[in-house]
Amino acid sequence: MPASSAPLYLQSSVSALRGVGPALVQRLQRMDIWRVQDVLFHLPSRYQDRRHLLPIGTLLPEQEAAVLGEITQVEHLRGRRDQWLVTLSDGTGQLYIRLFHMLAPMRAQWQEGRRLWCFGETRAGYQGLEMVHPEWQMADQPQFEAPTHLTPFYPSTQGITQAQWRRWVAQALTLVDQLPDYLAKYLGPAWPPLGEGLRLLHESAEEVPTPAHPAWQRLALEELLANHLAIRSARTAGDETGAPVIKASGSLWTAFLKQLPFALTAAQQRVIAEINQNMAQARPMRRLLQGDVGSGKTLVAAAAALTAVEQNYQVALMAPTEILAEQLYDRFVEWLTPLGIQVGFLVGGLGQKARREVLENLHNQRIQIVVGTQALFQDEVKFAGLGLVIIDEQHRFGVDQRRQLLEKGTIPHLLVMTATPIPRTLAMTVHADLDLSIIDALPPGRSPVETLVVADTRRAELMTRMQHRLAEGDQIYWVCPLIEESEILALQAAETSYADLQAALPEVPIALVHGRLPAAEKARVMADFKAGKTRILVATTVIEVGVDVPNASLMVIEHAERMGLAQLHQLRGRVGRGQRQSSCILLYHPPLGGKARARLQVMRDSRDGFVIARKDLELRGPGEYLGTRQTGLLQMRVADMMRDEALLAELPRLATQLLHENPEAVQALIQRWLGNRLDYSQVG
Ligand code: ADP
Ligand code: MG
Repeated sequence: MPASSAPLYLQSSVSALRGVGPALVQRLQRMDIWRVQDVLFHLPSRYQDRRHLLPIGTLLPEQEAAVLGEITQVEHLRGRRDQWLVTLSDGTGQLYIRLFHMLAPMRAQWQEGRRLWCFGETRAGYQGLEMVHPEWQMADQPQFEAPTHLTPFYPSTQGITQAQWRRWVAQALTLVDQLPDYLAKYLGPAWPPLGEGLRLLHESAEEVPTPAHPAWQRLALEELLANHLAIRSARTAGDETGAPVIKASGSLWTAFLKQLPFALTAAQQRVIAEINQNMAQARPMRRLLQGDVGSGKTLVAAAAALTAVEQNYQVALMAPTEILAEQLYDRFVEWLTPLGIQVGFLVGGLGQKARREVLENLHNQRIQIVVGTQALFQDEVKFAGLGLVIIDEQHRFGVDQRRQLLEKGTIPHLLVMTATPIPRTLAMTVHADLDLSIIDALPPGRSPVETLVVADTRRAELMTRMQHRLAEGDQIYWVCPLIEESEILALQAAETSYADLQAALPEVPIALVHGRLPAAEKARVMADFKAGKTRILVATTVIEVGVDVPNASLMVIEHAERMGLAQLHQLRGRVGRGQRQSSCILLYHPPLGGKARARLQVMRDSRDGFVIARKDLELRGPGEYLGTRQTGLLQMRVADMMRDEALLAELPRLATQLLHENPEAVQALIQRWLGNRLDYSQVG
């Protein structure tokens, strides 16, 4: 334990917090939390209501609940990995508590006959309902306090508990009034101070805070401003010019079009013209290409790449994951090697020899186009003449990546592609330096994906439907639920579904892919599915963005009621890519609440990413505002680019004033909200 007598400052390392030792410091740093101040800005993703005790006999699987009962049995299960199974009874029923570790002090307390309060999520275990490592208190001692307020729930990582977060936040909150409020001077008296917003979100309340609250709006404004400033200040005077002037002659492009089995859509043509015009100027292109899933952005990327290659410049194409990088690579090889173009592949998981070879060939320009992950932007990667960088489906395209690019010497043109619908005004303000191109039409001949909302009690019918599809030669995605609290539970859920499907369809080759699989293994599984060797792919949400297997015409999404609409839309975009009529089945676990039903109905009735995003916003209830995973270019903590559109009008004025009068505040605000994202570049 670190000394607790040392005074605590906002700028102290997190190690100064009571209860944070060296191992936790490292875990926190991996979450980009370095100083005490960063803990203040680590905001809850939602709130839990643990005020009411539920009778154990009434519990359902996958329910968050607080219970109180007597420990009737403690069983130590020895095996490859020790476990403890504790039985809790309250007269209405029995609940099992499964523990994978139990330290001596805990063992001393968890004894038969003691009364225990627990809060956790139930799941169906072998013996019956169970909770895995719930939060707990001994209820038969004087210190026991039943919660009287809502409890904030923090985004976390393996090895950090909610109780730890709450203790650290409580310590950090003692300093909240020392936090410099850089904007107070520029905002009218109607705006509450910064600290009030942080208190509102962190301190347990009786009601879930809402974004309409002025204290919340104050935080959202500051976050939006920080993002706006980050982009504005990343733009140094020097990079107004200095990009290669790349004028398309169209020779390669014409040859390419000849071998393409379909014609470009008008939207694709328009967007390609916009890009070519940009690249023909010395002012570096920074263009955001927005187009719904399946609108054909990859082809636009190829067009831009060909323009650069034709004029002897190299192109780097980055995807957010190795699977997507591999797939883009395959596509580019298929399309461009017939034109005599060398395409390279560079990801973190590449072997030493292959890696050295790619680096060498980039340096001597034997490779003209390289596809990869963030690994593309590491220091050792030296291009002979990088003219264009394309970033596909990036969730967190950050200022840091731009900076890394600029450090590569030349200033390449930049094209960022996304399926996230962003209103034009918004894109202009928050991404102050990006021009926007929009593909607003899907390729012709796509029949819309039929979407069905089905209770998971109807699995038998579903199996019949799947067998029909398989008999017709089609392939199927089976998507498993995301469990934010625990990667291990998510994986277990996927493994269970995988085993169930194998049992139900024994002759069908089925594969499982998930985030924990080594990259090479993932790539192999995906390649097999693409080649049709496996017919059903069971996946956690790794297939969320970009995967393209036209022969997959059916997608089943388990626990669709738990997923965000944006995510469901992204997932559904993986089917309906070929000629076959495609379907997406949204399985839910009954009973379905009113809100959840309405959300699934939106998915059933709409195919337009833009409409879905708006509805999503309307349907979010209190407590669901925070931390909804925004599949956007920028991941915001409190602001929502659509909901808080009205705040955007304030940004240019505030930014200009701060940049003139208080440049240090600009740096401090960027640091406060965007943190040290540079370190994320290692993730590759
Ligand atoms: P996204 O915009 O989601 O990245 P893709 O670029 O992966 O979409 O394109 C989706 C599918 O549509 C691919 O199979 C692609 O070959 C096909 N496609 C792209 N443009 C056209 C077009 N103009 N006509 C027909 N099919 C097209
Ligand atoms: Mg794509």
